[in-house]
Amino acid sequence: MLSKEQSEEIKKQLLLQVDKLPQENKEQIKKYISKLNGEQLEEFLKQNKIQIQQPGVTEGAAPLAKETQCIFCSIIKNQIPSNKIAENKKSIAILEINPLSKGHSLILPIEHTTIEKIPRQALSLAQKITKKIKTKLKPEDVKIETSSFQGHAIINVIPFYKDVPPKKEKASEQELQKLQSKLETKKKAPKTIRVKKISKLPEVSFRIP
Ligand SMILES: [Zn+2]
Repeated sequence: MLSKEQSEEIKKQLLLQVDKLPQENKEQIKKYISKLNGEQLEEFLKQNKIQIQQPGVTEGAAPLAKETQCIFCSIIKNQIPSNKIAENKKSIAILEINPLSKGHSLILPIEHTTIEKIPRQALSLAQKITKKIKTKLKPEDVKIETSSFQGHAIINVIPFYKDVPPKKEKASEQELQKLQSKLETKKKAPKTIRVKKISKLPEVSFRIP
């Protein structure tokens, strides 16, 4: 049985989540949720298969996330914020928020797909990011590994640094933003060629023997 505080907290979380939903009947859902009493709320959670994180246990966990919802698909659809550094038609590259090392990046095929079916554009993006990491971060080596999570194949691009053993650690938002600006591929602006006005031609003297 939920305590009064618990149900209030859960309702608060739910309302926040509902706000992010694309549904048109949001207001109706919100009204419905706010009127539920403790018992009804529990029933509502059960019916919708919503697992509530105990407040304070996990920060920022999405209580409405269903098991079937793929985190990478959500990132691709911009439902979950990420630090994107590059993209092409079939894939995007983002920074891993729990990197093994500085610059650890993930290439996500846009289509929810298995390792065997990773599009070659995703592999070429991985290569591009590898090059970028090499020039900007100067690691000793960069490894490319494929893995799959919730059935969505991804490519890990992991730099290795001398004397720094890889260790999974949460990166701060600040650190991620710094890396993002370093590794980001900016859309190329058309080059403007500035022609300097030549006021005086350099003097060239020839010596004729
Ligand atoms: Zn997916």
